[in-house]
Formats: sequence, structure tokens, C-alpha cells
Amino acid sequence: MSGSIEEMIGQQLRKRGIHDPRVLEAMQRIPREEFIPRELRGDAYADAPVAIGFGQTITQPYMTALMAQALELTGGEHVLDVGTGSGYHAAVLGALAKTVISIERIPELAELARANLKRTGLDRNITVVCGDGSLGVPAHAPFDAISVAAASPLTPPALLAQLKDPGTMVIPVGNRLDQELLVIRRHSGKTTTRVSTSCRFVPLVGREGWQEQE
Ligand code: SAH
Repeated sequence: MSGSIEEMIGQQLRKRGIHDPRVLEAMQRIPREEFIPRELRGDAYADAPVAIGFGQTITQPYMTALMAQALELTGGEHVLDVGTGSGYHAAVLGALAKTVISIERIPELAELARANLKRTGLDRNITVVCGDGSLGVPAHAPFDAISVAAASPLTPPALLAQLKDPGTMVIPVGNRLDQELLVIRRHSGKTTTRVSTSCRFVPLVGREGWQEQE
């Protein structure tokens, strides 16, 4: 067993600058082990991504926290989560916002995330859809905040088009191995971008992301 929930909150999050009390409270409360395959549950609070099947991973806790904090959610927002995976990140966003639409391209993972969210009783304000999130989810747009948990060669124009003014998007942009986590803010008709940190995510595979075999 590597790490406890208390160690995750203290060592991995607080010590590294996660200070939003709502983010810390949500991650203290949500049982991360419920989103991890049974045989890897000992790694639920490890300081690393963990395999969830289909070549995908549940994002490192610090990265989930950093992304959630960057969105500065206060509770009333309509949020898009791209790359549902296990559903954990969606659950954290669901605790911080009013409604979450989460999109996953692999049908089995979308189903797994729905089951994880239902079993933990965290599905009340979260809708998981299956499809290409690089195109956003036009039927539920626009969004106050967009969180992308897969790496893209550039910021998909469709996602920018579905971001409200004011609105904030976090997205890892770069090549397949190394990316920068961008925080894109739209306010009064202007869009500004800052680099939060360097990072490594699995690829965003889709029309406005990477092609499958690249
Ligand atoms: N946020 C997740 C982990 C994300 S891993 C969690 O908390 O568990 C990134 C996920 O993005 C993977 O499940 C991958 O299948 C998915 N993905 C990749 N490209 C995508 C696309 N174009 N649309 C939707 N999901 C995508």
C-alpha cells in the first residue's frame, strides 16, 4: 500500500501549493480507491498515474487537483470534462460545480466511469457521454469551464468555441511525450493563456487531437 488519503492531501497536494479549500475537501471526501481497478487499489493514493485498462491511466492526484484549482470553481458552473477515464476527475469537478458533462471515447471506460460514479453515489450532477471530446459536446455547450485530461497538439478550436465568456479551460498541449498545462481564460472578449506546469498525459485521440496511429 503506497500512501493514505491523508498523505495525499498533505504531502502531494498542500505541500505543492494546492490551497483551494473546496478542492482539498472534495479530494479528502471522494474515495479514490473506488475508481481504481481492484488489483491496483493499494496504489489509490500513490503520487503517480495508475493503469485503468485500455492503455489509459487515472491522472496523478496532484495534476487533478492543480487542474481543478485552476478553474476557480465556486459551485454554480456548468463544466465539460474531456477524457472521463475512471470518472474520478469528473467526480471531483462534480463536487465543485453545479453540473458536469464528461466525455470519453472508449465505450468500455465510459461504462466503467458511469458504474464507479453510481456506486459511490456521486452521479447526481454528472452525465457521462461517449464520443470524440476533441469536438466538445455541442448539445450541452456552452461551458463555464472546460477540463481536458488528455494531451493535444493544439487547443481544439471546437473547445474554444464552446467556452463561455467569462470562462476558463485547462488543457495539456504539446507533443506526444511532453506537454505544458495551459490555463486559458476568456474575459470581456479577450482570451489569455498562461503555462501552469510541464506535464505528461495520454494522447487526446480524435478529429482535433492526434490520429490513432501517429
Ligand atoms: N480523467 C481521467 C483520466 C484521464 S486519462 C480519470 O480521472 O480517470 C485520459 C482519457 O481520455 C482516457 O480514458 C482516454 O480514452 C480519453 N480520451 C482520449 N482521447 C479522447 C477524445 N478525443 N475524447 C474523449 N476522450 C478521450
